[in-house]
Amino acid sequence: MGERYRLKLMDFELPPDDHADRLAVRAWLAAHPDPSGRDLADAGYVAPHLPRPWGLDADPIQQIVIDEELRAANVRRPVNPIGIGWAGPTLVHAGTPEQQAQYLPRLLSGEDLWCQLFSEPEAGSDLASLGTRAVRDGDEWVVNGQKIWTSLAQFSRYGILIARTDPDVAKHQGITYFVCPMALPGVEVRPIVEMTGGETFNEVFLTDVRLPAGSVVGEVNRGWELAKVTLGNERVSLSSGGALWGMGPTGRDLLDLVRASGGTQDRVLRQRLARLHTVEELLRLIRLRTVSARIRGEQPGPEASIRKVMADEHGQEIMAIGKDLAGTGGMLTDVGPMGTEIGPWHHGYLFAPALTIGGGTGDVQRNILAERVLGLPHDLDVEAGRTWAESRRQP
Ligand SMILES: Cc1cc2nc3c(=O)[nH]c(=O)nc-3n(C[C@H](O)[C@H](O)[C@H](O)COP(=O)(O)OP(=O)(O)OC[C@H]3O[C@@H](n4cnc5c(N)ncnc54)[C@H](O)[C@@H]3O)c2cc1C
Repeated sequence: MGERYRLKLMDFELPPDDHADRLAVRAWLAAHPDPSGRDLADAGYVAPHLPRPWGLDADPIQQIVIDEELRAANVRRPVNPIGIGWAGPTLVHAGTPEQQAQYLPRLLSGEDLWCQLFSEPEAGSDLASLGTRAVRDGDEWVVNGQKIWTSLAQFSRYGILIARTDPDVAKHQGITYFVCPMALPGVEVRPIVEMTGGETFNEVFLTDVRLPAGSVVGEVNRGWELAKVTLGNERVSLSSGGALWGMGPTGRDLLDLVRASGGTQDRVLRQRLARLHTVEELLRLIRLRTVSARIRGEQPGPEASIRKVMADEHGQEIMAIGKDLAGTGGMLTDVGPMGTEIGPWHHGYLFAPALTIGGGTGDVQRNILAERVLGLPHDLDVEAGRTWAESRRQP
């Protein structure tokens, strides 16, 4: 029998070991013992939730089954987080058949890496204030501006880009969504050195970049609606999920490590570990509740924001406890919790502050909760296009 989850809002059962969906994945794996990204993309296993031919129209249970079977066979999907997670679903939603045929096969197989050219030095949380301009010139758009925090830009073949195409309308209008080939003349990528020592994200300068008219996704000046599709497309996480946005170790990994090392007598640490376990369980139940709602055909509600706020702060706490458990030796970068080998802990500790910033800051998520769950007044005076504080100062 499959594992059964039942708790007020949760009621679903994972298919048993001999279920036809599992056997189908296993038969495919037997025929493709060491599948490439292309094999996985052609089979629809990279993003099974997408409609055919890009995915398998898989419902959440089928997605979990595929995830579990691939994991059991030690098969890793192609790594192209922004392409597969955000850009691909937006192209499926609004791209022309030509755009889909041109971009999606190599996006899904991981052959073409994608990046997201959204944030700017003066437009992050308030993204619609962006200043990058695209001006029509015959069959082309000429783009000028600067983007920042563009993860993986230096490795990417394409970027999804939003730019202002009509400056004379309200800020959420007049934005257009483009695909920008990163090798075009005028695209300059400057990596930013992070405190992890890595260079994951970049500044991107766009100077007279000429994009063909066919680079527009959806309708001209309607790009904000598509940007919201992109931002909302963070797939409901159906896997166990590491502490660093699904990557890296979990709280359970840390607790296992502490147990295997004989535990700790430190009272404060014991309290923190107990709390860590509690939050880990709460997040697991929220995830199951989300899956359960999806199975009933309901759209994800505010629990997505609740989960993000909790999971990001939880990730920071996991890494902080890991660092504390390393003791004074933890100041040396090659020592992990309980004196273990460094593993992912030191990097995770240095990366963790980013969790509550990227993908919408914790404050912004809390605004969403304040408005949509608690029914408090909107943060922004939408009609006037300014904050309530600004409106009060300048009626
Ligand atoms: C690891 C990482 C990877 C990233 N990758 C990408 C990428 O690939 N592409 C991309 O386009 N962007 C990327 N970003 C940028 C990210 O989307 C922005 O950092 C984020 O949206 C916040 O914008 P900001 O940094 O300009 O901060 P700001 O918006 O300037 O915020 C500054 C502070 O003010 C607070 N604040 C702002 N507005 C409000 C409000 N209304 N109410 C209460 N508090 C508020 C914020 O919470 C924050 O504490 C990445 C960021 C990180 C950390």
